[in-house]
Amino acid sequence: MYLPGVGPNRKKVLSQELGIETFGDLLEYYPYKYVDRSKVYTIRELTGDMPFVQVVGRILSFEKFDMGHKKMRVVAHFSDGTAIMDLVWFNYAQSVLTKYTIGRQYVVFGKPAVFNNRIQVVHPDIDDAEHLDLSSMGMQPYYSTTEKMKKMGLTSRSMERLTKTLVERLKEPLPETLLPQTVALRHLMERTEALRTVHYPTNARTLSQARLRLKFEELFYIQLNILRYASDQRRKYRGYVFAKVGPVFNTFYSQHLPFPLTEAQKRVVREIRRDMGSGRQMNRLLQGDVGSGKTLVALMSMLIALDNDYQACIMAPTEILAEQHLVTIMSFLEGMDIRVALLTGMVKGRRRKEVLEGLLDGSVHILVGTHAVIEDNVQFARLGMVVVDEQHRFGVAQRARLWSKSQNPPHVLVMTATPIPRTLAMTLYGDLDVSVIDELPPGRKPVATYHYFDSRITTLYSGIRRQINEGRQVYVVFPLIEESEKIDLKNLEQGYEVLRQAFPEFQLSKVHGRMKPAEKEAEMQRFVSGETQMLVATTVIEVGVNVPNASVMVIMDAQRFGLSQLHQLRGRVGRGADQSYCLLVTPYKLSEETRKRIDIMCQTNDGFRIAEADLKLRGPGDLEGTQQSGMAFDLKIADIAHDGQIVQMARDEAQHIVDDDPLCQAERYNLLWKRLKELRKTNINWAAIS
Ligand code: ADP
Ligand code: MG
Repeated sequence: MYLPGVGPNRKKVLSQELGIETFGDLLEYYPYKYVDRSKVYTIRELTGDMPFVQVVGRILSFEKFDMGHKKMRVVAHFSDGTAIMDLVWFNYAQSVLTKYTIGRQYVVFGKPAVFNNRIQVVHPDIDDAEHLDLSSMGMQPYYSTTEKMKKMGLTSRSMERLTKTLVERLKEPLPETLLPQTVALRHLMERTEALRTVHYPTNARTLSQARLRLKFEELFYIQLNILRYASDQRRKYRGYVFAKVGPVFNTFYSQHLPFPLTEAQKRVVREIRRDMGSGRQMNRLLQGDVGSGKTLVALMSMLIALDNDYQACIMAPTEILAEQHLVTIMSFLEGMDIRVALLTGMVKGRRRKEVLEGLLDGSVHILVGTHAVIEDNVQFARLGMVVVDEQHRFGVAQRARLWSKSQNPPHVLVMTATPIPRTLAMTLYGDLDVSVIDELPPGRKPVATYHYFDSRITTLYSGIRRQINEGRQVYVVFPLIEESEKIDLKNLEQGYEVLRQAFPEFQLSKVHGRMKPAEKEAEMQRFVSGETQMLVATTVIEVGVNVPNASVMVIMDAQRFGLSQLHQLRGRVGRGADQSYCLLVTPYKLSEETRKRIDIMCQTNDGFRIAEADLKLRGPGDLEGTQQSGMAFDLKIADIAHDGQIVQMARDEAQHIVDDDPLCQAERYNLLWKRLKELRKTNINWAAIS
């Protein structure tokens, strides 16, 4: 078939710029917005904050303004009898004057603005009113286009014409890509009608049905792909059955627990116990805000492994965190006959040899290490359970690497304090089950967060001084400018000097990414031990360190940080019983988006609310972890941030099908398995997790 309006040149541009090769591709190039063109406003109704509007009237007169440098501004005074507005063009003087005629009726379309107390539209879309039947115009689609496309005359308008021509030529219905029962039960629009409507909508109601159908389809196949993968894994690898909860767990629970578990902790421990006894390998993501007590949950899960004569391992992202876990776990287990060992880059020589031997002969029960443990040739006698702390990017491939360490894959618990909204988690980590600790231990005071302009830095200094004089410690964080480590370091060095001069009476630590690990650890240690009162750092302290005595987190140039980063940093304080503070310092001039981010931080301590807000402000593509995740985030029509309910619906439907056909090859679902195969062939992102 040949499509009028697409010659070889345009064909090439469409392919290069948008990857459009086939009619099918063009049909799936959906508009990004619509404007209702059946509605006509009167000029008197218009205000400057309206989106695109349409008015019908006549040009009364033209006026030309010389703007210097041979540039011209043309203004047409336009009226519909209710009022007068200005249509404005820059640079197109001559063509405008010849194209439009005074007194003729036009339909003008554009974004109204107020200038010199008059309504104006700059560079309006103008059509001859005679040839337009407004009542049939409905919703006008807008397509995104690139600069190169525009150069070839491929504007949104011409994309609209192309898709319309294509849709009009669709005589036969296109093959349906969802099961008839799905379409019927979920009241979805048929595929052909949906495609037609999405490019050629007549009213808002059918348009939203069409969009729902296409979003559902898109999300459904993503979920089907994930769940098929998970089902496959489950079949291939059986999990160890930890049938009993024995004396180790019970002794700990009844005699060593220093405080009652929160309800959320209890619930998650139950979920984990159920998984580990089920006969399938556990792959669970544990989300819990900073300070929600994930370590204890991890420890109790490891004790279940011990009760079943298996070893357990917990991995942290840094050596200092691993050491902290060691100290915490040893003190929790004090008096119990359990051997806990540490393995990091710092453990060398004879000590290392002893640990490795202990792992091999089974005498080491719990190993605490850095993530490097999975890379190394560390061998266990019977590794049954692995906890991965503060590493939400612990992907499928890394998990697979663990399996070389024991006969069957060990149960895996991945813990993260970076809350991920449910819908995103379902898409990103769809093969993981998710547990959430949504409750902080009692008695925590929320961190009070304040915004300071940098002009008021001296007021802030006096607050810091007061806290340190009361025996508290303070973090000061400078942004990490990734493109330029040099500027970054200079920033930090300068900031450090300023602070040193401002606080001559205190000891300061300084930590940044360019330091050697050993140096960094030593400097952190000085702060952890209380030898220094202030830790000046780039974001290396983002995850995990626990210094309950620190009560102030100052974030310099806070506008440079993302919401989840700000929240993580704030989580470093508020760990003791005292009131803690987070102070966000920014310059006076801020973008709208930054202001929103800062406002949210000042309003709430709830990590999930913050994550939701982040997702809505930035979109999922920018969220930490999504780019590396190898998942399809160039969604064509669905929007993870706003289409949560549809994600859930698609998930349920896909789950239903995989439950019914775990081998994913039943004849009755042929349509789906074939389509999935096609999609995987064309989408690199999809292949990555398959
Ligand atoms: P995170 O989830 O950020 O890793 P941690 O596991 O480090 O949090 O716990 C933070 C602090 O809360 C620790 O000092 C821990 O001992 C304490 N904690 C954990 N659970 C409880 C609880 N149920 N009641 C009181 N304190 C708790
Ligand atoms: Mg932790």
